[in-house]
Amino acid sequence: MRREHIDYHEILNVSKGATGDEIKKAYRKLAFQYHPDRNPGDKEAEDTFKRINEAYEVLGDTEKRHRYEQFGTVDDMGSPFDFGFHGNFDTVFNDLFTDFFGGQQGQRARKGDDLRYNLTVEFEEAVFGGEKEIEIPKEERCTVCKGSRIEPGHEPIICKNCGGRGQVRQSHGFFTINRTCEFCGGEGHVIKHPCKACKGRGSVKTKKKLKIKIPAGVDNGTRLKLRGEGIQQHGDTIPGDLYIVLQVKEHALFERAGDDIAVQIDVGFPLLCLGGEITIPTIEGETLIKVPAGTQPGKVFRLKGLGVTKSTGYGRGDQLVYLNIVIPTILNETQRTLMEGLAQEFAEASPKSRKGFKEKFMDIFD
Ligand SMILES: [Zn+2]
Ligand SMILES: [Zn+2]
Repeated sequence: MRREHIDYHEILNVSKGATGDEIKKAYRKLAFQYHPDRNPGDKEAEDTFKRINEAYEVLGDTEKRHRYEQFGTVDDMGSPFDFGFHGNFDTVFNDLFTDFFGGQQGQRARKGDDLRYNLTVEFEEAVFGGEKEIEIPKEERCTVCKGSRIEPGHEPIICKNCGGRGQVRQSHGFFTINRTCEFCGGEGHVIKHPCKACKGRGSVKTKKKLKIKIPAGVDNGTRLKLRGEGIQQHGDTIPGDLYIVLQVKEHALFERAGDDIAVQIDVGFPLLCLGGEITIPTIEGETLIKVPAGTQPGKVFRLKGLGVTKSTGYGRGDQLVYLNIVIPTILNETQRTLMEGLAQEFAEASPKSRKGFKEKFMDIFD
């Protein structure tokens, strides 16, 4: 089956009798305008770019062009799609544009700067995760000139000083050195008509609202990376990344200990002696714990699974309950009487324990 006739001349907007240079120039101009890097996410521009490349693959090649102009198709030589642009357009693009952008610069993907945003989250948000909306400053590619910095309808002018190379050679006796062209600043071209919308910067300052998903279990210093939300300035083929650095607010009751949550509870010493139940705050609400009679100071109660989601995403840490024994500093009359009676009772029940330091010391030498 023969392919439908495609008018490559029309795609490149050149006449049938156009010279090789004219075709090359026309291709450059269009490819410059429709290159995917300049039109991120624009499907239509991408398709146009493909068609431009297809046309140039044929018209830019003397033999293929000859066949095409003679037979109106290049089918005899296979589909034009087989000429090699299932691969990388950038190869042919970059070859042609080297003199545009000057030397090495234009050939490699250049990534924009990364942004850092310090975000404070509540203790509970760090434990359970959540969502926050932030506003970041953004350099966005100018939509009027598509980042080219040139007022639409005009073209960059190849720098006369360096011939578009961006560099100039200087001979010093035996050797030559390459210097960045001072005239165009290494760009290889000069702009006579800068874009009015962005004042020739290629980008405009804006603000962008972003919803940040905070995963459960984050901690102080956790960095979240948002790819492509960083800065993209003129000459950056891809934007940098955005790093959200988290700061977790302190909580009045809870404290992080890795994946565990620690809590200190004030209790009177009679509770430890006699045992009983106390109400403990947890991150999920209050709970009762049983304190056995005779509990010693320093005892830690562990509430399984009431901690923070582990960084692996599986399971949770525990809540650790530290009982903080409070010794009253002031006693009322009744308390004093009772306490004295109690002290007396303990002394009589276990006279040895009432030994003074001196007696204990002497015991060692018995
Ligand atoms: Zn602009
Ligand atoms: Zn120059």
